[in-house]
Amino acid sequence: MIQRGDKMEYIKLCEIYEDLEKNSSRLKKAEILSEFLQKIKHSKNKDIIYLIQGKVFPDYSEKEFGISEQLCIKALAKSSGVSPKEITQKWKKLGDLGKVAEEVMTKKKQGTLFSHKLTTDKVLKNLQRLPDLVGRGTVDKKLSLISELLTSASGIEAKYIIRTLLGQLRIGVASGTIRDSIVETCFKEKTKENIFAVQDSYDKITDFALVFEKACKGIKELQSTALVPGNPLKAMLALKAESVEDAFKKVGKPAIFEYKYDGFRMMINKNKKGEIKIFTRRLDNVTNQFPDVVKYVKEHVKAKSFILDSEAVGYDRKTKKYKPFQDISQRIRRKHHIEELVKKLPIEVNVFDILYYEGKALLNEPFEKRTKLLRKIIKNRKYHLKTAHQLITSDVKKAEKFYKEALDDNQEGVMIKNMESEYRPGSRVGHMLKLKPAENELDLVITAAEYGKGKRVGAFASFTLSCYDEKSKTFKEIGKSSGLKEKSELGLSFTELTKKLKPLIIKEHGRIAQIKPKIVVTILYQNIQRSPTYNSGFGLRFPRIIQLRPDRHAQDAATLKEVVDDYKRHELKIHY
Ligand code: AMP
Repeated sequence: MIQRGDKMEYIKLCEIYEDLEKNSSRLKKAEILSEFLQKIKHSKNKDIIYLIQGKVFPDYSEKEFGISEQLCIKALAKSSGVSPKEITQKWKKLGDLGKVAEEVMTKKKQGTLFSHKLTTDKVLKNLQRLPDLVGRGTVDKKLSLISELLTSASGIEAKYIIRTLLGQLRIGVASGTIRDSIVETCFKEKTKENIFAVQDSYDKITDFALVFEKACKGIKELQSTALVPGNPLKAMLALKAESVEDAFKKVGKPAIFEYKYDGFRMMINKNKKGEIKIFTRRLDNVTNQFPDVVKYVKEHVKAKSFILDSEAVGYDRKTKKYKPFQDISQRIRRKHHIEELVKKLPIEVNVFDILYYEGKALLNEPFEKRTKLLRKIIKNRKYHLKTAHQLITSDVKKAEKFYKEALDDNQEGVMIKNMESEYRPGSRVGHMLKLKPAENELDLVITAAEYGKGKRVGAFASFTLSCYDEKSKTFKEIGKSSGLKEKSELGLSFTELTKKLKPLIIKEHGRIAQIKPKIVVTILYQNIQRSPTYNSGFGLRFPRIIQLRPDRHAQDAATLKEVVDDYKRHELKIHY
């Protein structure tokens, strides 16, 4: 039976959760989800979508439940009559408080006749009240809101209530799947235009319930999604250029070159009421961490309402030299003693785009116009807030000189932008390019190799790469590279490398040979991840051997510390 969404029984949603959890294919998940969305299509309240996301507020909201595992254990104990100690023991065994909740509530419900049914509306209402509880008695109030739900919950309902509270729904539904299901539910065809309209609307308002509501009304409604200064929108992302020439080829001439500042992204919003909010690339509200920026914005930007896109970059107060991003990353995360940090780690804001101005969205205006407007409304003040350093040129030599200046100025490289282009929130676009020196390079030692099959029988086809751990004075594995060719001008074919490695074999296990650490190679890689596969605890993604380093000893290879530093730098970069 088709139910109105706002009166839906929570158990029906839990059945969908179970289905989604069981099916790992993305297509299947989208199918399950769109069947479900069909059912709530005509409901007035589309907030159930938040529950599917494992939340009760839109993505842009900063509200948090503030619920610890300990509080969940207390609530469970109160509702089930099982002692907190026993619950904790079960938790240690099962590793998932959701499953523990399922077990204890199922047991409790056996034999009791219980008629009170939980609705999605009730779950949403109780959970939405949690973040606003402050002051005395907060814990007790939270406890009673949660217990009220658990007492009426069946086993599987309890499981998902607890998982939602802890922010670990584990049903594997990413935002791309939600987008696709909305398209399938609201449109006859899954055309590129329809997918884009849903995604674009989401990127502007980051609220799937609202997007779904608009999609139900049709594509026009989606396309008229308005920006709201104060609500975060997704930042536009860049593609890579290989060189200045390559950049001109891709964005045309003349092009706008700007410093690529080595800092972190800041989207600065001011609404009609004069309230200023600052968001990171991940849409975290960091306004409180940056009172200095709020002050600069008030002083140097002449407009009533706007959304600016910018990069904050650190500098040394004494030498006035720019600092790399990792030196100032603390400023984003630190929540206390902020004034102290403002003094210790000053930043300069470099504004490079404007997306909204005095009540109007500028997303579809050409970049040239937007960047000119910036120069009109911003009073540049070095080391506080200014427009990004820029060069408009068609000349390769001049552009290369500018690129070199950026690097000499301790920046990462340059951004190259097409003059006519629009601003597309959330998209990686071909009209904004980044150019920076290839930096993902490490010298590593080969410590094992695997014999190939077919044409490669008898020769090594895959090579295990290790770095040097100075603490234990041993080599630690961090990746495997295959893909060397049969012939190569650089002396780097797999047969040639095999010849060099064979005399160094220590022992063999099946097809794997352990190799004395001696041969050092330079490798290029995409990034580093944590990995249980290798004994360093880290793994390289897409490592490619590019050259031999006969001039290097094994101990000269990259150290584990360097690898960990690279990993941390990369992690921070992804987030900010
Ligand atoms: P990447 O993080 O390597 O993909 O490079 C894109 C990032 O460069 C953006 O997300 C910004 O944070 C940063 N950036 C620094 N300077 C600029 C600039 N002038 N224009 C656009 N993005 C910039």
